[in-house]
Formats: sequence, C-alpha cells, structure tokens
Amino acid sequence: MANMDIANPSEEHLMLREMVREWTKEYVEPQALEYDRDEKFNLELLRSMGELGLLGISAPEEYGGAGLDAVACTIVHEELSASDPGFALAYLAHSMLFVNNLAYNGNEEQKARILPKVCSGEWIGAMAMSEPDAGTDVLGLSTSAVQRDDGSWVLNGRKMWITNGCIDEEGTPADVVWVYARTGEDERGRVQMSTFLVEAGMQGYSVGQKIYDKTGMRASNTAELVFDDCIVPAANLVGDVGESLLHMMGNLELERLTLAGMALGIGRRALEEMNRYATDRTAFGSSIRDFGQIQRYIGESWAKYRAMRSYIYDTANNLTIGTSGQRLDSDGVKLFATTAAKEIADAAMQVMGGYGYVGEYHVERLWRDAKLLEIGGGTLESHQKNITRDLFKDGDAIIR
Ligand SMILES: Cc1cc2nc3c(=O)[nH]c(=O)nc-3n(C[C@H](O)[C@H](O)[C@H](O)COP(=O)(O)OP(=O)(O)OC[C@H]3O[C@@H](n4cnc5c(N)ncnc54)[C@H](O)[C@@H]3O)c2cc1C
Repeated sequence: MANMDIANPSEEHLMLREMVREWTKEYVEPQALEYDRDEKFNLELLRSMGELGLLGISAPEEYGGAGLDAVACTIVHEELSASDPGFALAYLAHSMLFVNNLAYNGNEEQKARILPKVCSGEWIGAMAMSEPDAGTDVLGLSTSAVQRDDGSWVLNGRKMWITNGCIDEEGTPADVVWVYARTGEDERGRVQMSTFLVEAGMQGYSVGQKIYDKTGMRASNTAELVFDDCIVPAANLVGDVGESLLHMMGNLELERLTLAGMALGIGRRALEEMNRYATDRTAFGSSIRDFGQIQRYIGESWAKYRAMRSYIYDTANNLTIGTSGQRLDSDGVKLFATTAAKEIADAAMQVMGGYGYVGEYHVERLWRDAKLLEIGGGTLESHQKNITRDLFKDGDAIIR
C-alpha cells in the first residue's frame, strides 16, 4: 500500500492512486497481454474510464471533468502503465493531448460543446502534430489551412503517427482531433501555425492507414490521418490565427511529465518482477539473488527507480497546468526517466533469463513499450537541445 510522500502529497492523491491501482488490477492487467499480441486497442475499456472521472482528469468540473492537478495526472499514468503502457498511451493521447489542450485553450462555446462528450468517453480524441516529413522540426509542417470567404477553412495535408487517430480495425477516425496547420507566414517571414478542431463526419477527414508492426505500444492505435479539402467551420479555429505555439508549449509540459509518469510505471513493474523472480529462481544450489552480478541489476534498478520517482513528482508538484515555464524539468524528467525505464526493463529481462524473453512474464513487453517513450512527445535529442538552450538563458537554475 502506498504512503503519503512526494508522490502522494495529500489524502486525495493517495485515494486516487489506490482507486486507479485497484481498477487497473481488475480491468487493465487481465487484457494487457492479449491486446499487445493482437495489436488491438481496447476502446470500450478506455470509454469506461469516463465513469471513473478519469478521462477529463484535468478539465474543469463544470464541463464534466475532475479538475485535478499535475500530480493526479502523473499518478494515473504511472498506475496504468505499470500494467499496460500501450493502453496508457491511448489514455494519454485522449486525456492529455486532446482534453487538457481544449480545456486550457478552447473558447467557451468549444468547451461547452465538446468537453462533456470527451470527459464521458462518448467521443475519443487525438492530437495531430507530426507529419510524414516533419516531426521534431514542427515548423516544417506542410498541412495547410486556407480561409474561405464564408469564414470556414479548407485543410489539406497528412498527419502521421497519430495515437487514437483510428479507434478500431475498420478505419473509423477519432471523433475529434486537435490539428495543427500552416496558415501563412508572419510579418517576419516565419511559419504561422493555427489550431483546428476537426470532427468525425467533416467532409475530407479520413484515416489513411492504421500503422501495424510497431515495436511496442501495440495496444494503442497509431494512424495516418488525411485531410483532403477538409472543410472546417470558422467556429472550430482554436484561439486566434497563428497561436498554435502558445497551445503547444503549455500542453507539451504536461505531456512530457505524464510520459515520464508512464516510464515510472514501467520501471516500477519491471523492478517488482525481477525482484520476485530473483528470490524464486535457484541455480547452483542458491537463490539467484545471492549472486553479485544479479545484485548489481537489482541494486542499480532500485536506485534509478527511486531517483526518477523523486524527480518526476518534484516536477509534478511544481507544475501548474495551463501555464508554461517548467520546460527545463518537464524535458528533464522525460529525458531521464524514459531511458531509466528502458534500462530497468532490460535488467529485468536479463535477471529472468529465457522467461524474461516471453510475453507471459511481462517484462519484454515493458522493454518494447519503453523504447517509444524515448521518441514520442519529443525525442531524447530534442530534450537535450531544450535543456542546453534553457540553461544558457538561465544558468542560475543550477544553483537555485
Ligand atoms: C507510437 C507512436 C505514437 C505517436 N503519437 C503521436 C501523436 O499522437 N501525435 C503526434 O503528433 N505525433 C505522434 N507521434 C510522433 C512522434 O511525436 C514523433 O515520431 C517524434 O516527435 C519524432 O519525430 P520523427 O519521427 O519525425 O523523427 P525526426 O524528427 O525526423 O527525427 C529523426 C532523428 O533526428 C533527430 N533530430 C531531429 N532534429 C534534430 C536536431 N535539431 N538536433 C539533433 N537531432 C535531431 C531526432 O532526435 C531523431 O533522432 C507518435 C510516434 C509514435 C512512434
């Protein structure tokens, strides 16, 4: 049972963790192996999280959300990911990349119309930034939006790698997608990006393909989305023209923190599995945990796990959702925790020998899933670049 500490700073956080842990054990854990093996997304399970109030965890209560903070968001991602990181990624794409973005950047009409549907699970949301030819280089996007005389917009382009982009095997697109598109250039000749809400049924919006054969995160759907003369009403422009960078920057911090929370769940579960196995398994007449080389895997994994947990929850306690300014640490936790999770899962596989290499024993799936966290939501290299840039601007951060 969890204790009150940096990761559970209040009674409410502790209760949330216990509730999600119990629910995960009962509903998420039993399906994880099958959905990974079959590359299927458990849509009904995600929808059912609406009843628990988790789909709109950070959205205001007046729109059907739970109005909780960054620590709460991190707790949910950690707990889900300890069982099924692929399912946790689908949850993240919906609740952090779509719902939170809309809750903090949408106008009253957009929030009143869409938030209750995505908080209940009636609609599934996604966020589309990446393209076939532009990922880290966000301003290199080519999807364009042109305004027509009646105020509506015409979107053209393709988005790639979109989690929840399709919600089933029939190519049904996400009910609503947060889309970034190029709308021209500003007065200094820089790319101007604007944000649109594209809804299922809008002319010209479809799924190009569901992407199969991923290394990990196979229990989440990843898709290419196509916008072919897609007509988007004027009311679906978010904020003002050219404001996407503002939306993106604020939301990315919570996204990176919760991706790090997912890494923590992976590290914790892998450590649990290797610790148990090292006691049960005997070789040469003793438990393998008596061997110095096995002790190195367990000891180093424990230290990494504890370090990532402290850094992640310290950052979560200091992050105010909807504001930017925590980039140094939201990049920092993701940079550190994602590789630490992969290393702990790798150590677990090594400790568990041949058993660690097969699905039934969990850790090979965690190892595959962990790798995505070094790429999605910002690559390791982009975090290194951001941190170095921020420390150039504010070197005092090191001694504060
Ligand atoms: C399973 C999965 C789910 C995803 N879900 C989503 C989603 O829901 N929505 C979404 O919009 N995107 C999503 N993505 C896309 C993901 O965010 C991108 O893959 C990621 O941002 C990297 O972009 P890229 O793949 O185009 O690689 P690139 O940006 O082309 O990078 C290739 C390599 O070059 C390096 N590189 C690039 N620029 C620099 C630089 N300036 N300095 C040093 N190195 C550099 C990168 O670090 C990387 O090592 C998902 C991806 C996957 C695989």
